[in-house]
Amino acid sequence: MTAKKNLRLAVIGAGASGMMALIKLREAGFHDVTIFEKAETLGGTWRDNRYPGVTCDVPSHGYRYSFEPNPDWSRVCAPGAEILDYLKAVAKKHNVERSIRFGEEVTRAIWRDGKWHVETTSGPQGAFDAVITAVGVLHHPVYPDIPGRESFEGEAFHTARWKDDLDLTGKRVGVIGTGSTATQITGALVPKVAHYSLFQRTAQWIAPLMQGPIPEEQKELFRARPDLLESEYQRISDENNSKFAAAIVGANPRAYEKLVQVCRGYLETSVRDPELRAKLTPNYAVGCKRLILSENFYEAIQQPNAELVTDPIERIEAWGIRTKDGRLHELDVIVFATGFDTHRLMRPMDVRGRGGRALEEAWAEGNQGYLAVTAPGFPNWFMIGGPNSPIGNFSWLLTAENQFGYALRLIERLARGNVSEIAPKREAAERFNADVRAALPGTVWATGCSSWYIDKHGNIASWPWTFERFEEEMSEPRWDDFEMS
Ligand code: NAP
Repeated sequence: MTAKKNLRLAVIGAGASGMMALIKLREAGFHDVTIFEKAETLGGTWRDNRYPGVTCDVPSHGYRYSFEPNPDWSRVCAPGAEILDYLKAVAKKHNVERSIRFGEEVTRAIWRDGKWHVETTSGPQGAFDAVITAVGVLHHPVYPDIPGRESFEGEAFHTARWKDDLDLTGKRVGVIGTGSTATQITGALVPKVAHYSLFQRTAQWIAPLMQGPIPEEQKELFRARPDLLESEYQRISDENNSKFAAAIVGANPRAYEKLVQVCRGYLETSVRDPELRAKLTPNYAVGCKRLILSENFYEAIQQPNAELVTDPIERIEAWGIRTKDGRLHELDVIVFATGFDTHRLMRPMDVRGRGGRALEEAWAEGNQGYLAVTAPGFPNWFMIGGPNSPIGNFSWLLTAENQFGYALRLIERLARGNVSEIAPKREAAERFNADVRAALPGTVWATGCSSWYIDKHGNIASWPWTFERFEEEMSEPRWDDFEMS
């Protein structure tokens, strides 16, 4: 479609979602688009997460833009660096960087006189007809609130702030946390370090990951037959969405039972020592926390130089971590694999909508939008990864493309000229959020565990229905749910 009105658009964030938004906006005829990116390079989560073993646990052929197939993935699940290279190659092909303002963190966005007035760390950037936020979900590292953190004499850092120049060979390394990140690090570091201590507060369910190199013949076949490559993309997406995602939200009980059996069986057959197995056995339902996929964690944690520490941490001291049993675990390096504040989203940005109302105030009782993309009172503000986006064990890129497609329909409406403000009706958002709250008890997330899916108010961060329902909702806005002027 060719835009009738030349809208001036701002995209916040040059990660996978922001880049995609720019490419698709240009394709739709919008050329006055600026991406504001706080870092000096693009890539978002794949730029920030460079810890040893970083890999995507969604199969490579399902983890890519729908419009940029890649027959050359090296492994069944691609290493983080390869995904970053893919994003850079796509950026180069589409000349994305010319529209990015690097080193510009958006600090304020104020809705005034029918425009968004955007300000970054280097000052006011002018007025925009619409803003698309693509800031990601996992980008505010959480550091544990453990006494004595500052007193440690060795190196200590968060997994998303990895020290690339630090050689861990032969070192005594302690990792706090047992999420997806720590699990991947364990597999990569145990063979390298002198001693490895994994500090586990809560055991995690793990499903086996089918990992390994993709043979050259397979790549050649995909290069020669784009139709097969496309079928593989569809197959992986369908598999993840109709089986895994549906199982978790209670829509596919058979798939869920299978998942439970697979996780239990994997633990039983992989860990020989009954005492260690007991320590690694979670006391909550499979999928309550985001499921971990790993091909090597159980093997690594059973190596002679590896130790699973389950005594609670008392404090951090100059030479290591002291646990409540009084033991000092002497360490050269402490790694905080303690996750992210997934509920902060675009904060600390100061966003003010109609009547100067702050987003912070609107979200005081928890983040709430309408269908994860828009929010009442914040016209022409479109979120990729807004509250209740589908997040979990499937491709974020697919979620982002769906949300962007929906936002684009609304932006195109603005471009037609007779509408300059578009926002969801308050009652539509209230209905949506009431539906979300009603759906939560039916999901496995509400069965009794702590996880980043639920915020401190008890609100759920994810999409509590099937992915099919999400795709259906995203396919066409319900125009009656919007107020337009
Ligand atoms: P996470 O899943 O939030 O795990 C954080 C870990 O730190 C948990 O084990 C938590 O224990 C522990 N922890 C937090 N504070 C602690 C404290 N004060 N003392 C002791 N332990 C503490 O974080 P993550 O592993 O970085 O993963 C975050 C998300 O990133 C994943 O769920 C996933 O969506 C994404 N990710 C994806 C991949 C991939 O392959 N696609 C890889 C890595 C990460 P409790 O369980 O007791 O709270």
